[in-house]
Amino acid sequence: GAAMAKSKFEYVRDFEADDTCLAHCWVVVRLDGRNFHRFAEKHNFTKPNDSRALHLMTKCAQTVMEELEDIVIAYGQSDEYSFVFKRKSNWFKRRASKFMTHVVSQFASSYVFYWRDYFEDQPLRYPPGFDGRVVVYPSNQTLKDYLSWRQADCHINNLYNTVFWALVQQSGLTPIQAQERLQGTLTADKNEILFSEFNINYNNEPLMYRKGTVLIWQKVDEVMTKEVRLPAEMEGKKMVVTRTRTKAVPLHCDIIGDAFWKEHPEILD
Ligand code: ATP
Ligand code: ATP
Ligand code: MG
Ligand code: MG
Ligand code: MG
Ligand code: MG
Repeated sequence: GAAMAKSKFEYVRDFEADDTCLAHCWVVVRLDGRNFHRFAEKHNFTKPNDSRALHLMTKCAQTVMEELEDIVIAYGQSDEYSFVFKRKSNWFKRRASKFMTHVVSQFASSYVFYWRDYFEDQPLRYPPGFDGRVVVYPSNQTLKDYLSWRQADCHINNLYNTVFWALVQQSGLTPIQAQERLQGTLTADKNEILFSEFNINYNNEPLMYRKGTVLIWQKVDEVMTKEVRLPAEMEGKKMVVTRTRTKAVPLHCDIIGDAFWKEHPEILD
C-alpha cells in the first residue's frame, strides 16, 4: 500500500529478470516426470502402459486446470503434460516463472495427494519430482503443430513400446534382444510383427495409450440427491437435483487433423 515504507534494501528487487511472455501469444507449460524410468520400476508400473499412472497424471492435470486460471486445453502422455494458457491471459502479468512454477508445484503436490486413490495397495516409496518449461507460440498454427508434435511422439513411442514389451513378455526376448530386433524397423514393420507374431491389431489397442489424453472444458450435468428441509411434510425426503458445471473433461481423440479444431473452435478463440 501507499503507506508502506520502503527499506533501503528494496533496490535488490531490480535484480529480478523480466520474464514477461510476449503479449497475445499462446503460453505453453510442459512438465515431465524426473527420472520416471526408475520411478516406474520402483512402483511396479505395468509395461508398456500402466493405466493407474496415466489416470493419476490426468487427475493432477484436471486439478491444475481447476485450481489455476486461464488454461484452455491440456495434453498428456507418458510422464508429461502440456498446459496452454489463453492468448490474452494476464495472469501474474504473464510472468513465465509464475505460470511454470504454479503449474508444476500444483501438479506435483496433487500427484502425491491423489496417489492412494489410484495405486491403492502400492505405497509411494519416495517423493517424485517434475521439471517444467515455458514455450511461447505466436500463432494458432504453431500451437496446433506443437500439440500435434506431442501426439505424434505419443504414437511413435507407444508403437515401439507395444512391440518391445510383446517381444519381452510373450516371446521371452531379453530387453537387449528386443531392442536389436527393432533396430531400423519402420512403422509398417512394427505393425506387421504385432499382427503376425502376436495377433495384435495395433489400431485396436486402447485409445488412451495410442492418442494420449486431451483435457478441454465441457459443460457436464451433475446429478445429485439433496436432503430437503422444507416444507415440513417433505421433511427428510430426498430430491434429485441436476446442475450444470463446467469441468475439465478427458478425451482420447486425434488432435493432429482438422476435425478436432473444427469441432471445438472456442478453444482457439
Ligand atoms: P527424465 O528425467 O529425463 O525425464 P525419464 O526417465 O523420466 O527421464 P522420459 O523420457 O520422460 O524419461 O520417459 C518416461 C519413462 O517413464 C518412460 O520411458 C517409461 O519407462 C516410464 N513411464 C511413464 N509413465 C508410464 C506409464 N503410465 N506406464 C509405464 N511406464 C511409464
Ligand atoms: P500469494 O499467492 O500472492 O503469495 P499469499 O496469501 O501467499 O498470496 P504472501 O504475501 O505470500 O501472500 O503471504 C503469506 C501469508 O501466509 C501471510 O500473510 C500469512 O497470512 C500466512 N502465513 C504464512 N506462513 C505463516 C505462518 N507460519 N504462520 C502464520 N501465517 C502464515
Ligand atoms: Mg526426457
Ligand atoms: Mg521424464
Ligand atoms: Mg517423458
Ligand atoms: Mg504466498
